[in-house]
Amino acid sequence: MSGRPVRVLSVEDSADDTELIMLELRRGGFAPSFERVATAEEMGEALRRTSWDIILADFKMPRFSGPEALELLKAEGVDVPFIIVSGQVGEDVAVESMKAGAQDFFRKDTLTRLPVAVARELREAQRRREGRRVSAALREAQHHEGLLLDSIQDYAIFRVSTEGIITSWNPGVERVKGYTASEFIGQPFTMLFTPEQRERGEPMHELRQAAAEGIYESEGVRLRKGGVLFEAKLVLRPIRDEQGRVTGFVKVTHDISARKRHERHLRFLTEASTLLVDSLDMKETFSRLALLTVPLLADLCLVETLADDGSVELVAVAHRNPVQEERVRDLRRRFPRRPETPYGVMRVIRTGKPELMNDVPEALSPRAAKGEEEWLRALEQLGIRSYLVVPLLARGRCIGALSFSFLESGRRYDEEALHLAEELARRASLALDNSLLYARAQEAIRLRDEFLSVASHELKTPLTPLQMKLQALRREAEASPQASLPAERVIRHLQTAEAQVRRLSTLVHELLDVSNISSGPLALELEDVELTELVREVIARFEAQALKAECAVEVHAPEPVVGRWDRMRLDQVVMNLLSNALKYGPGKPVHLRVEAREGRATLTVRDEGIGIHPEHLSRIFDKFERAVSERNYGGLGLGLYIVRQIVEALGGTITARSSPGEGATFEVSLPLSR
Ligand code: ADP
Repeated sequence: MSGRPVRVLSVEDSADDTELIMLELRRGGFAPSFERVATAEEMGEALRRTSWDIILADFKMPRFSGPEALELLKAEGVDVPFIIVSGQVGEDVAVESMKAGAQDFFRKDTLTRLPVAVARELREAQRRREGRRVSAALREAQHHEGLLLDSIQDYAIFRVSTEGIITSWNPGVERVKGYTASEFIGQPFTMLFTPEQRERGEPMHELRQAAAEGIYESEGVRLRKGGVLFEAKLVLRPIRDEQGRVTGFVKVTHDISARKRHERHLRFLTEASTLLVDSLDMKETFSRLALLTVPLLADLCLVETLADDGSVELVAVAHRNPVQEERVRDLRRRFPRRPETPYGVMRVIRTGKPELMNDVPEALSPRAAKGEEEWLRALEQLGIRSYLVVPLLARGRCIGALSFSFLESGRRYDEEALHLAEELARRASLALDNSLLYARAQEAIRLRDEFLSVASHELKTPLTPLQMKLQALRREAEASPQASLPAERVIRHLQTAEAQVRRLSTLVHELLDVSNISSGPLALELEDVELTELVREVIARFEAQALKAECAVEVHAPEPVVGRWDRMRLDQVVMNLLSNALKYGPGKPVHLRVEAREGRATLTVRDEGIGIHPEHLSRIFDKFERAVSERNYGGLGLGLYIVRQIVEALGGTITARSSPGEGATFEVSLPLSR
């Protein structure tokens, strides 16, 4: 017959008594395995060595006792049911045993009920173990919840009593709302609302709604400690007791300001992109763009573009208070941008890097150059406290800048604003570049049209006298069919005709040359060329023309200058420069110089004619570009273009100097050897 196993520690000096007890247990349905100890040492050792289901201890032994055994058990800190089985009889023994903490007391002569008591104590011990497990699990769960709440940083999670008093805190509260636990717990939760929201009764409405619906959810503005507003997502749930009564609320507040800001920025960029592709009229587009940035990104926004000559043009201004816009324009007129300014728009344009400056004007003063005090005062008067300038970059070049300022609104620029501004600038640059390219294309079309009309005019000019001469010749021949015409008359007519044909062929040649040059690199035939000789040859060819223009041509070419050049092309260069000098400087002397210095040959052609306005100097070398009206001077605007192409193909340079009314000087510099 197998009984219920039980591990018994018998604290007993008599082996017989232990046997007796075991017998009783077997009878009661147990299959005990046991060990007998009779001293504190033995018992302590047994407890530490293994685990026991029950301890049955004698009350009094020669070297140990039941109460002492109980003490020892407590000291070991293990929970094992403890029953006194005593040889001694008497109420006092029983009372003392129970007082010491034994679960039960039996006399050795009446052991029949011992198994029942043991079974009961085993059950109790089992229950106690269960209980301990549950509470340990609970403790662990609470610990984890605490850790969880502590680790949630972006969410303020706290409890509110039914009366609206805050009763808990997590670190997220400090992060989201700025309050420490002691500043927070015990306060009315209405302090988290704006005065207007309190007035409208929103706090209590939230609680009522949560109690009634089981949840309250919304997005709205809330107050941070110190009165700063932030955008929040809110969830409120009731806490209920076993009877279902609401005993409080849990509120979760998430700061969604960043997300909302991000959404606004995206909307803003989308709007800006649409606006930017709307029109090719940049002034109009940038005015609208500047307006769009106020107030989201600035109180004051300026758009400035860089012209080819390095000057900066103010294209658009938008101010929070539109009345101030004229004042800003006026300031810009009074204080034009200075290229060397070590901060702000000019620096951004120079470096292509953005600039963010807070605490203006104090932060600027140390950087400002001498003489800028007045400008700084003007900035101060405008109320600029913080600014951000981003470059407009297109194809690796800076073509302008967007500048944003916060005035006394107290807002400051940060990394996030910088990113947004850069994004905007990227889109604006593209649009600006497109419109510049468009304008350039328009200009090219205009030039081409103008050229076509000039060219047809030019080509027609020699045709009329040619036709007239030929007609006259024919008429004279018809009038006297037999008689022969005087040779001298025929020759004169033919000379004029020839001159016109020459002029025509020069024009056609020029045109063909340009299309040749434009379609690929110039093919050069290099040989040793003596430049002074070549110059004299050209002058000789122009003798008649110079006479007609009443120009004395003076040459200063003291010694031969020999280089490896293309003779025909160089001839073309000299010819073009000389013919321009005669054309634009009639009645005045023309001076040519040829010199060799430091491995280079220099050819200078100077006239004393109408000269060229400085603003045109850079473009007259371009195709079709002219600085005179076609009515006063014929020409295709191609001569100097061809000259420059040739000079550059020979590795040289050409420059022009002039003051209007005082003539022009063209200087060609060529390397002597290549
Ligand atoms: P074209 O003379 O056929 O117009 P060019 O290419 O030779 O074309 O010259 C371009 C422009 O440069 C001229 O239209 C004229 O305005 C200016 N220019 C050239 N040479 C002179 C000069 N010696 N004096 C004044 N203006 C000049």
